[in-house]
Amino acid sequence: MARYTDAACRLCRREGTKLFLKGDRCFSAKCGIERRAYPPGQHGQGRTRFSDYGVQLREKQKVKRMYGLLEKQFAQTMQRASRMKGVAGENLLMLLERRLDNVVFRMGFATSRAEARQLVRHGHFLVDGRKAQTPSIQLRPGTKVEVCERSRKVARIAGALDALEGRSVPQWLEIEKDAFAGTVKSLPTREDITLPIQEQLIVELYSR
Ligand code: SF4
Repeated sequence: MARYTDAACRLCRREGTKLFLKGDRCFSAKCGIERRAYPPGQHGQGRTRFSDYGVQLREKQKVKRMYGLLEKQFAQTMQRASRMKGVAGENLLMLLERRLDNVVFRMGFATSRAEARQLVRHGHFLVDGRKAQTPSIQLRPGTKVEVCERSRKVARIAGALDALEGRSVPQWLEIEKDAFAGTVKSLPTREDITLPIQEQLIVELYSR
């Protein structure tokens, strides 16, 4: 499957905010936003004024990049969110949060969503006891996610768990660090997502 392979920090600089795409580096002085807080490219330091469409587009790009999706997959997720009952924007965020790669990241088994995605792809996780290698799987309440027995010594997973002390696990998830496992306790709510996202702008963009 296609994926973005260019410099991750360019994406943060384009969106003008930290998207936390590179794990520990995002919390250090090496962070691209800390060092060059302006958009990338030759005209990055010029003046920028956005139209309404531009504001909506940037918000969509920001969320899409935050969760590591490409355009087609994001648009499909938006379509699905629109067909569901309730507020489309909130549905979109719920669908993004319930993805396996995001849950692995949120549980602290990886330091970024990109790393979580790769670990899932490489078969390091079991979902309800069965190997799962599809990062986009939607998890339901009661689902158990655990690190495979043979993968518990993988340095990246162990290192991420050690770094978990400094991060909080969302209320809708439960983590048993010693058992290398976690459970989805309930569906995430809008209040659980503390990221600075204005989802109604994304809905407006796709309603054009
Ligand atoms: Fe974004 Fe992290 Fe790079 Fe900072 S270090 S610019 S937060 S990806």
